[in-house]
Amino acid sequence: MGVSLSFNLGNLEDADESSRENGTTERDLIIVGGGPAGLTAGLYAGRAQLKPLVILGESFGGQAATTSDMENYPGFPDGIGGMALAEQMADHAKRFGAEIEFDQVTKLDLSEWPFQVETFGRPYKAKTLILATGARARRLGVPGEDQFWGRGVSVCATCDGYFYKDKTVVVVGGGDSALDEGLYLTKFAQEVIIVHRRDELRAGPILQERAFANEKIRFVWDTVVEEILGDTGVHGVRIRNVKTDEQSLIDCDGVFLYVGMIPNTELYKGQIALDDDGYIVTDKRQRTSVPGVFAAGDVQDPWFRQVVIAAGAGAAAAIEAERWLAEKEFEMSEREAEEA
Ligand code: NAP
Repeated sequence: MGVSLSFNLGNLEDADESSRENGTTERDLIIVGGGPAGLTAGLYAGRAQLKPLVILGESFGGQAATTSDMENYPGFPDGIGGMALAEQMADHAKRFGAEIEFDQVTKLDLSEWPFQVETFGRPYKAKTLILATGARARRLGVPGEDQFWGRGVSVCATCDGYFYKDKTVVVVGGGDSALDEGLYLTKFAQEVIIVHRRDELRAGPILQERAFANEKIRFVWDTVVEEILGDTGVHGVRIRNVKTDEQSLIDCDGVFLYVGMIPNTELYKGQIALDDDGYIVTDKRQRTSVPGVFAAGDVQDPWFRQVVIAAGAGAAAAIEAERWLAEKEFEMSEREAEEA
């Protein structure tokens, strides 16, 4: 099943609910981000006749699309690829009237209503917004990381694992991602060395059990990576035991980093309440600190980071956006009637 996405940045005039003023297109709802939260919000808002516009951002499908085999999305007992699921979600949203654009929001102004949304393609005004920009992988910030980024240093085993057939790779981290992706890498690599800064894993018991049982996986405990070494590609890492301070080298051909996430909230800083780690603060109804602006998915969820939860939050945000808009329009028509 393939998704047919709109690359056309200039054909929105036919959207019934939109209007154009000074080159600015006004929409009832703009959804920022095209991962599971944004696409599900698009489906629900489409069914609510809001003709939502989903602006995909840098990557279609979000982080979920980089997962090769998703085994915990309900309804797919044999698993489904992350990209395949994203394509189905996009098709589903489009079927009910969502418009999906490969464009990126460059600026948001939430100080006035309707909210101003600037993209590479054109400016918009939005009566309601759903922010679903997700999170990205944290980096280590050690020498060699930038130099070998994409040439031996990766945050996506699904994308790059294939290049490490019969090679040795280091995986950094002790959470679910490190173990999940480490296990995936054993399909290709001859050895997967998981370097973790403590002697206890953060990952859940099932993944721990699988990782400990896998003969290709070796753990290096209480250890941090201090430098990534190489010339044209990665040849190894310099590590330090945090208990003994002893340094040593591990020879390897690639390094995969799974040391947590950073929410993509740069656009909203100073305009909306964020928590100490930069995640958008929402209430149980996906409402942010700005009335009419909702958030869903990993951009407001540092705890679960599950596709099914992001999708659920996207649905909730769309339901709330539709209700908010209906109330706002009712209030406005009452005020107009009083003034007449
Ligand atoms: P995470 O749970 O935050 O784990 C990050 C890991 O990186 C931790 O082990 C942490 O060590 C380590 N770390 C952080 N900063 C580091 C640094 N500077 N140097 C070395 N190590 C560092 O992140 P995650 O594994 O990406 O998982 C995030 C969320 O997604 C979790 O809620 C997880 O359950 C979920 N998830 C679920 C699945 C699944 O269900 N299959 C798969 C992937 C992710 P400490 O442990 O010492 O803090």
